[in-house]
Amino acid sequence: MKKLLFTLTCFCFVIVSSAQKTYIWCGTLIDGISNEAKTNMTIVIEKNKISAVENGFSTAGTADKTIDLKTKTVTPGWIDMHVHMEHETNPNRYMETFTFNPADYAFQSVKFSEVTLLTGFTTVRDLGGTGVNISLRNAINKGLIKGPRVYTAGKSIATTGGHADPTNGYKKDLMGDPGPTQGVANGVDECREAVRQRYKDGSDLIKITATGGVLSVAKSASNPQFMEDEVKAIVETAKDYGFKVAVHAHGAEGMKRAIRAGVNSIEHGTYMDDEAIALFKQYGTWYVPTLTAGAAVADSAKKPGYYPELVIPKALEIGPKIKATFAKAYKEGVKIAFGTDAGVFKHGMNWLEFVKMIEAGMTAMDAIKSATINAADLLGEKDNLGSIEVGKWADIVAVDGDPLKDSQVFGKVIFVMKNGVVYKTPNP
Ligand SMILES: [Zn+2]
Repeated sequence: MKKLLFTLTCFCFVIVSSAQKTYIWCGTLIDGISNEAKTNMTIVIEKNKISAVENGFSTAGTADKTIDLKTKTVTPGWIDMHVHMEHETNPNRYMETFTFNPADYAFQSVKFSEVTLLTGFTTVRDLGGTGVNISLRNAINKGLIKGPRVYTAGKSIATTGGHADPTNGYKKDLMGDPGPTQGVANGVDECREAVRQRYKDGSDLIKITATGGVLSVAKSASNPQFMEDEVKAIVETAKDYGFKVAVHAHGAEGMKRAIRAGVNSIEHGTYMDDEAIALFKQYGTWYVPTLTAGAAVADSAKKPGYYPELVIPKALEIGPKIKATFAKAYKEGVKIAFGTDAGVFKHGMNWLEFVKMIEAGMTAMDAIKSATINAADLLGEKDNLGSIEVGKWADIVAVDGDPLKDSQVFGKVIFVMKNGVVYKTPNP
């Protein structure tokens, strides 16, 4: 009897929900594409898609549901193009590479996914972990756990000793000889193999580390670490599998090789010079700044014992430089997509990137576009994500206040809908 009742309840729920529309009354609507905010609008949602955007507060039918956000500002769900969902900074982070099993990463990533979604980020691009991030994406897609849409690179690809070589800093008998399967590739053939391995693993895109980086236990944060023919081999192979290529780069030389090879985005971009800026514009390459991470690593480096000795000077030098680089790139008209490197700082604080971008001279409207329509474009999902338009997936957030006037408002997310499902609401 109990079982029968349960079945009936579920059955009724399905019937009602498929007929029901959701009406969202928006006091202010920033739709991701217009340059001006609109006032007093209604978004109508059917199943997981936006079916209408109407002037005024439309009246819902009796079977429908209305969400009153008349005093709030509504935007498309935010997209963070650079996160690491498997981990989060802490003073034991380096020890964890020896003590953590995949399940340890998996369980903590459940918490990080939920906080990311509930702070307004309905989509993220995971730019590297152990590979658990692929299972995380699958678990979210199956509805087993709450989290944003995840587009994941799986394990990043580096050269031997490069920024994403997983055994950097280990003693020799622990170092082993990681290869393309582990994300370490040297020469054209291994680069091709490493991309094909990511396809086999179930990645959505490719991430490579084209220069040194701050948090790896290695001396340089900026030296080039792939030859141009190697990056070309990666880009060409990636195209065969429909993969975009995201590139970690601080130093200018590695950045330029990657842009010339046809990659889709440069992450961090710290030592971008005039020639690099010209190449960005010539090739239409996206820049993903990660200002929040830059500031966070410089702060953490000042705490005794937080990072290994080799990391501290790199963190102190690189961190503060990114903001000036971003300001210049924005002024010069380089295409910018929002990305934070969350994991390098606390998950759920991704919104600080808006604050830092605006502080560095970007208009609040452009900052919102960088996290909506621009990010959707870089993701290859412009038809489905990034704006409040008919036919798009219903990923919608609302904040309490006017984010165009006060950047702290980005930290006041009071409503989150992903794929037509409400995860956070002020009037449940
Ligand atoms: Zn990163």
